[in-house]
Amino acid sequence: MPSYAYFKKKIIPLEQANINVMTNFMHYGTGVFEGIRGNWNKQRRQLYLFRLREHYERMLNGCQILNIDMPYSLDELCDITVKVTAKSAFEEDIYVRPLAYKSSEALGVRLHNLEADFLVFVFPWGPYLDTDRARCVVSSWRFPKEVPRQKLTGLYVTNALAKTEAVSGGFDEAIMLNADGYVAEGSGENIFLMKNGKLITPPGSDGPLIGITRNTVIQLAKNELGIDTIERHVDRIELYAADEIFLTGTAAHITPVAEIDRRKIAGGEIGPVTKKLQKLYADIIVNKNTKYSSWCTPVYKK
Ligand code: PMP
Repeated sequence: MPSYAYFKKKIIPLEQANINVMTNFMHYGTGVFEGIRGNWNKQRRQLYLFRLREHYERMLNGCQILNIDMPYSLDELCDITVKVTAKSAFEEDIYVRPLAYKSSEALGVRLHNLEADFLVFVFPWGPYLDTDRARCVVSSWRFPKEVPRQKLTGLYVTNALAKTEAVSGGFDEAIMLNADGYVAEGSGENIFLMKNGKLITPPGSDGPLIGITRNTVIQLAKNELGIDTIERHVDRIELYAADEIFLTGTAAHITPVAEIDRRKIAGGEIGPVTKKLQKLYADIIVNKNTKYSSWCTPVYKK
């Protein structure tokens, strides 16, 4: 099954969507990306894009920061994405990667006097962390201070350094601290701790991306389990004493953390709250729980 891309205003096979080497964003990280999941419901033979609008709302915020004049409205972005996903015709879980970028074939470090364009492509992508119990390590790489927490391509170099440091040390994922030494997030996920019956997650002011899965989990914990989430500073040491820890992200879904810095969390097992949230989330993203149907955009016309 071929993948398709929406590129330079046309839907074309993904392998034909190529960019000139002088394109500005490739050199200076002047792009904004998103990651959206399409989740396959086998019984209904339908693919659902999860919280599509919210992803594009976040992307438009990132575009504001980079002075990218997005050539499409929010509705048009959603519409293009449904069309390119439908054209790809996958019957499995997929990942959608939109990118808004400085498209001028012109070098020079700046945001001004450059054209911008938007592309989006679709491809099958299984579990991101590829483990049901992640072994994590606190990274020696910290987020730089006063950097906007948006999905700006150039910012992800720190995350890439952290991830490779973790994997080369035999771990699954890196936990990143901010410049003040507080816990911020994983290299591609938000982090939650369960302690004394409450969920805790670092606030946006401590550097994490404000994840859409993070927001989903906060709502589900409150509405379905009656558990409040406190957004506050988290010290590295607190991680070791948490009752449960899990990571959240579009790619990683809800991934339990079994170990941090070689200390077992929840005895190395999946904690009870994590398990409940995982089950709720797994049903909601394939539109099995009709209460949250408004979060699921069907791709195929029936
Ligand atoms: N933090 C980082 C650094 C990420 O790249 C992601 C993935 N987008 C997340 C958190 C989780 O965000 P979301 O739930 O919106 O995918």
